[in-house]
This record gives sequence, C-alpha cells and structure tokens, in this order.
Amino acid sequence: MTIQWFPGHMTRAKRQIEEKLKLIDVVFELLDARIPQSSRNPMVDEITSTKPRLVLLNKADLADADQTAEWSRYFRSQGLATHAIDANAGSGVKELASKAKELLQEKIQKQIDKGMKPRPIRALIVGIPNVGKSTLINRLAGRNIAVTGDRPGVTKGQQWIRFGGELELLDTPGILWPKFDDPVAGFRLAATGAIKEDVLHLDEVACFVLKVLVENYGSALSERYGLEGLPSELPDMQAAIQVLESIGKRRGCIVSGGHVDYEKAATLLLRDLRSGKLGRMTLESPEETNK
Ligand code: GDP
Repeated sequence: MTIQWFPGHMTRAKRQIEEKLKLIDVVFELLDARIPQSSRNPMVDEITSTKPRLVLLNKADLADADQTAEWSRYFRSQGLATHAIDANAGSGVKELASKAKELLQEKIQKQIDKGMKPRPIRALIVGIPNVGKSTLINRLAGRNIAVTGDRPGVTKGQQWIRFGGELELLDTPGILWPKFDDPVAGFRLAATGAIKEDVLHLDEVACFVLKVLVENYGSALSERYGLEGLPSELPDMQAAIQVLESIGKRRGCIVSGGHVDYEKAATLLLRDLRSGKLGRMTLESPEETNK
C-alpha cells in the first residue's frame, strides 16, 4: 500500500514526531543504504533538530559495501554519526546501544557526576515508508510487534521496548514522507520498491536502472543475463531500451508475434535488483548529491 501524502498528512506526521521527540533522547534516522540521499525525508533536519541523531544505513546487505563506506564518510563530513545495519538478518543491530551512548556521552557523564545512575537511553526510529522501520523494531524487540501501517495519523498505545539494559525504543516509529519534487529521486525510490512503480512507468524505471547498472555494475549485469558487448554507458533512452530488449530475449519475455514484452522484462529486472540477485548494488553516490 502506498500512501498518498497530502499536505494535511505531512503536517500531522510532523506533529506526531514532534510529540514523540519530547519522550526520547536520540533519533535513529533510517535510510536505505542503496539510496541514502533519495530515501531521506527533505525536512528531517528541521523536524528532528532538537535531538542528537544517528543515521542508520539499513539494507546494507543489498548495497555495495564500498559505496556504503563512502556514504558513511559523507554523513560524518556533514557532522552526522552513522552506522550500517541489516535489520532483516540483524547484523550491526547489537551495536546500536553503544552508538547511541557515544552520542549522549556528555549528558550521561553529567548524570554520573551528579551521582545519578544513568537510565536507559530512549530512542525513536524515523524514516520514510519501506526503509525497514518495523523490521528493525521487531528485531530489537525480539518478536513481532510493530504494525506496518505506514499511515500518518494511525496511532496505537505507545510502549517502550527494552533492548539490553541500556537502550529503550519507542515501539511506534516516526513515519516521514519521501521526496516528491526530484524526479531522479523518484526513479531511485521506485527502483528499490520504496514507492510503487505504477506512480511512474515501469519501463522508464527499468531504463533508469539499466543506465545506472551499465555504468557501475556492467559485468554483473552481463553475467546475470548473458549479455554480450554491453557498452560502458547508455547515452539515451533508446540505448537503454535495447538492453532491456536483450534481457527480454534472453529470458523469454516474448509476446505473440515474437516481440519482446518490455513490461515483463522490466518486472524481471526490478525483481532481481530488489532481491539482490544481481549482486550488491548502490544506485547513487555522494558526489551526485552535491550536484
Ligand atoms: P517500514 O515501512 O519502514 O516499516 O519497512 P518494513 O520494516 O516493512 O520493511 C520493508 C521491506 O524491507 C520488508 O520486505 C523487509 O523485509 C525489508 N527489509 C527491511 N530491512 C531490511 C534489511 O536490512 N535488508 C533487507 N534485505 N531487507 C530488509
């Protein structure tokens, strides 16, 4: 289910997060490691400005490890602490308490100096739909508790999930809206499945993906579909369609009359990309962000 984000929803989502911020010490901003910039909410800096924040690059298992390292450097250069995780399998998750503690070191030290016993750090997860908020909450809880409602305005009684002795997490995440006004971000969001591709045209999304893959992961692409003589870049849409056509032919995506079924080929490509069958891939680099 994709939510249509109208101005009223955004205002309500923003207000709900502001309410939750009063209860917590630290924000975990969840991003998709394959598209760290495109999966960021455009107003997250402003909305969470009152609390320290840890940027979590989730789905790191699907992303290019070198690119994830680049992105971590980039966020650190922006003054943001960052950590890569895979909420599905749990890697990187157990370090969350110590990462949060590092961010709050001064505050904790003050409590100790006053003779107080530091209480568990309270955290809130925020992010756009589909970045893995519920998966992370469930993983930290050790059971299925998070409702994957993805609707601003739908709230239930909030509870704290205790993780180890040092971290507590609010069981309802802060749901933020994705970027709307940047068409390239839209393609990246659709490519990873963060927004439904029917918002955009499926074959256009596939062509966008092919352009990125040919330029950065050409050999993985050739190998998966047995493509020969793949160019090092695709100058235009026509060139991308040709590659899609080759994939369709190789995979038997043919309609009556012997023509390639582009939609079927596009669906196959996107499914392979999202499930990691094409290998670990990142669809944007920090350099592109600064353009
Ligand atoms: P939410 O809308 O932010 O709560 O996202 P969900 O927790 O529902 O996750 C969306 C999809 O991403 C689900 O199919 C999850 O299984 C998948 N997912 C979440 N985290 C990871 C991860 O770290 N790695 C992989 N491969 N998939 C993940």
